Amino acid sequence: HEVRSVRPGAHVLSSPVGAKFVPGAVSGEAAVVAGQEEELVAPSEEFQATALVASRAQYDEMYKRSVENPDGFWGDIASTFFWKKRWPVKDGKVHTENIDVRNGRVAVEWFKGGQTNICYNAIDRHVEAGLGDKVAFYWEGNDLGVDASLTYKEVLEKVCQLANYLRSQGVKKGDAVAIYMPMLAELPIAMLACARIGAVHSVVFAGFSAESLYQRILDCKPNVILTSSAVKRGAKIIKLKDIVDDALSRASADGHTVGMCLTYDNSSALKREETAWTEGRDSWWQDIVPSYAKECDVEWVDAEDTLFLLYTSGSTGKPKGVLHTTGGYMVYAATTFKYAFNYHDDDVYWCTADCGWITGHSYLTYGPLLNGASMVVFEGVPNYPDAGRCWDIVDKYNVSIFYTAPTAIRSLMRSGDEPVLRHSRKSLRVLGTVGEPINPSAWKWYHEVVGDKLCPIVDTWWQTETGGFMITPQPGAWALKPGSATLPFFGVQPAVVDDNAQEQSGECSGYLCIKAAWPGMMRTLQGDHDRYETTYFAPFKGFYFSGDGCRRDKDGYYWLTGRVDDVINVSGHRIGTAEVESALVSHPQCAEAAVVGFDHEVKGQGIYAFVTLLEGVEYSNDLRKALINSVRSQIGAFAAPDVVHWAPGLPKTRSGKIMRRILRKIASNELDQVGDISTLADSSVVDQLISLRNK
Ligand code: ATP
Ligand code: MG
Repeated sequence: HEVRSVRPGAHVLSSPVGAKFVPGAVSGEAAVVAGQEEELVAPSEEFQATALVASRAQYDEMYKRSVENPDGFWGDIASTFFWKKRWPVKDGKVHTENIDVRNGRVAVEWFKGGQTNICYNAIDRHVEAGLGDKVAFYWEGNDLGVDASLTYKEVLEKVCQLANYLRSQGVKKGDAVAIYMPMLAELPIAMLACARIGAVHSVVFAGFSAESLYQRILDCKPNVILTSSAVKRGAKIIKLKDIVDDALSRASADGHTVGMCLTYDNSSALKREETAWTEGRDSWWQDIVPSYAKECDVEWVDAEDTLFLLYTSGSTGKPKGVLHTTGGYMVYAATTFKYAFNYHDDDVYWCTADCGWITGHSYLTYGPLLNGASMVVFEGVPNYPDAGRCWDIVDKYNVSIFYTAPTAIRSLMRSGDEPVLRHSRKSLRVLGTVGEPINPSAWKWYHEVVGDKLCPIVDTWWQTETGGFMITPQPGAWALKPGSATLPFFGVQPAVVDDNAQEQSGECSGYLCIKAAWPGMMRTLQGDHDRYETTYFAPFKGFYFSGDGCRRDKDGYYWLTGRVDDVINVSGHRIGTAEVESALVSHPQCAEAAVVGFDHEVKGQGIYAFVTLLEGVEYSNDLRKALINSVRSQIGAFAAPDVVHWAPGLPKTRSGKIMRRILRKIASNELDQVGDISTLADSSVVDQLISLRNK
């Protein structure tokens, strides 16, 4: 592992100007100029009438208790789940924490000594309560007209069969199981089957290369891998089994042999006979799993036993193997889901994320199932066969809560309003977003065009490491501001910290940290507790450091300004990439923008903007000027881009996030130092961008 520790002040010291964060400076001014803070979008009375938290006062009261008495607050919520053995309470405490490296090792525990099982709570509990016939998954295939649905009872049976199979292969509590599968209903089922028997799932997004899969396998050393022969994603067929074979042979060469590869036959994408096969190691899922019993004893585990390992998206460097445990994660995923989406029993929920990301863990699998929700599981991509597919699916299943990422919203926006408007969308009630800061203009499009101004936009800021939402609206409780994730979730205590690790008060900008443990936080990095401490807790002693910059406005709302590694320092002004990008994207012909800094003789750093235009728009010098003017007028002359680089496509991670570290190398013409591009979704965009330099 490459150890990356982000030191406070690192950027400041390396920058020629050496400015520090000044509370309320630059970014604060910028927002006032942009007039964003004045723009309040209040919840409708109709929505408020159904809201779980219907007013700011109600939130304030609940929030106060959650931070003053976290043990009581979370203990009460945890009591609503099934525990085989209740956790011991010592001096009124259900958790212990040390997140300050000056006081010894960082360690966090919630409900330790209690015994439960997250699969039991997500599935069995509902079946036992009489909800067995409720649909758990509406599965929608990549191709039109291919679909299926599974009730809670059917899911339970499939989970049990797979869990029995895994046990028969010798998988025991604590053993890792690798999962490299497309978005079939069998993917969340596989996660649940692992959890049922206390095995640790390690899901690897089935878009990753053999190299990435191999690295992850070496890290957690599973004896069993679950995969599928192939997947059709859009018009493309990807032979997953070939990638798995390659990864497994690399792992063998490095001394770790995976003994069993269970392969789901996806014959719509690839015929059985055409699938590469290793006798003795490989089995077809459909041939053996259905022969196992439909009941399977639950393995009761300690609240602090490991539930899963998951790697971060790798936007800033080599991915980190984040480890989550059972009890606190369960309570946190379920509670955040319920409140942030204002979940009701008759909702139909759809999250477009893949289970290969944390969003697919907390808000496609565990959060909704723990609440007994019916949800859509979609195998395909949002723009196949055309840009109307999402709204097709929304209408088909009467989706009421829709959760996606800014990258998807911007790409749908690029295709115009018509594909949206030709669908009814009348079932929609709540719209969510995650993954990157959402530009106010994309926020407004989502709100006005997709949601007909009727649905609150829930902009959820969180991370693989946090397990669940950290800063998010409680829809119905307060007015939203386009582009702001608004206020902290219950129990979350954000701190905006300056270069000297001093927490600032009131309106300010700086490093976003958290000052106390919450139930869903990761407990360590797989096999590397030192790296866990140096990355997250050493940079600002006494705090968990998120790696993101933010601004807090006069109303206490939080605005994520991007990663601190990406902050640009122009003549002493610290500028978050998100704000400049938002100003560019607000131009009606700009679809997407990514901004980085480059060395500038006079200003210290200059601003270099990569810009993707709407489909069919030609690049011109006038447009370049118009884009620069848009930044000048919304933020100020100091933030005007020095260079505008035309970008038909941007380098993105496989979860759709822009990788600015690559763009920085292109901007500074250090083309031989572009570095690791293995987590890129499409590495050809790098060459394309290089060829368009100076054009
Ligand atoms: P790596 O840590 O390997 O660089 P990553 O940070 O992209 O990868 P994730 O855990 O998937 O991996 O993403 C979390 C990050 O995504 C956050 O730190 C933040 O930068 C960004 N993010 C997520 N949601 C939001 C949001 N609503 N607003 C702004 N930024 C967001
Ligand atoms: Mg990260």
